[in-house]
Amino acid sequence: MIITIDGPAGAGKSTVARSLARRLGFMFLDTGAMYRAVTLSAVRHGLDWNDAEALVRLAGQVRIYLDDDSVWLDGEDVTDAIRTTQITSQVKYAANNPGVREQLVAQQRATVEGKSVVTEGRDQGTVVFPQAELKIFLTAGPEERARRRLLDLQARGEEITLEEVLAKQNARDASDAGRDVGPLVAAADAVHLVTDGHTLDQVIAEIEALARSRMTAADATGS
Ligand code: C5P
Repeated sequence: MIITIDGPAGAGKSTVARSLARRLGFMFLDTGAMYRAVTLSAVRHGLDWNDAEALVRLAGQVRIYLDDDSVWLDGEDVTDAIRTTQITSQVKYAANNPGVREQLVAQQRATVEGKSVVTEGRDQGTVVFPQAELKIFLTAGPEERARRRLLDLQARGEEITLEEVLAKQNARDASDAGRDVGPLVAAADAVHLVTDGHTLDQVIAEIEALARSRMTAADATGS
């Protein structure tokens, strides 16, 4: 079974997807981490952001490995290094590059081949796994999302204000929604969930119930 969770930054996708995967005994795939890892590698190689071809080549060369808790880039644990504000503001170069997306989409499909998975990102239900049995589009208001992200960044020791987080988040939302390939958009058959005013535990329980009822329905029809 494939469950996709798409939505804007800060809606709680990673927390929800990881926890849901644990409860169901499924694999968890954080596709944003892959775009971040390519970006980190580009920064380290001093790539020119105007050189789109070089970024595509790099995306084809790097070895990205994800397990439930960590992200590895060419054998190095980069779990924290990919989540700085610098990488977050530069990830658009990888995310808006169609050649990079093609490479990472192929890698995402290959990674989950034959497995049950909860995958999260922007284009999982629309482009990567249109056949997914359950698609969720998870959102929250911009201020709520920025507040969550601020807490996250402060916990990592970054000095940043709510206004700065909100401005960067608005820019990232616009970039994610506006690109031609793999834009942030809900699949026509996605279930929309708004997390404002709900604990993430409530949201996880709601998606788990949906997933279990779809699994039961699939068992009953033998599909
Ligand atoms: O989810 P996260 O904030 O870690 O994603 C980082 C960036 O990677 C997003 O802003 C988005 O531009 C890009 N991304 C994407 N497609 C995905 C997942 C993430 O373009 N499936």
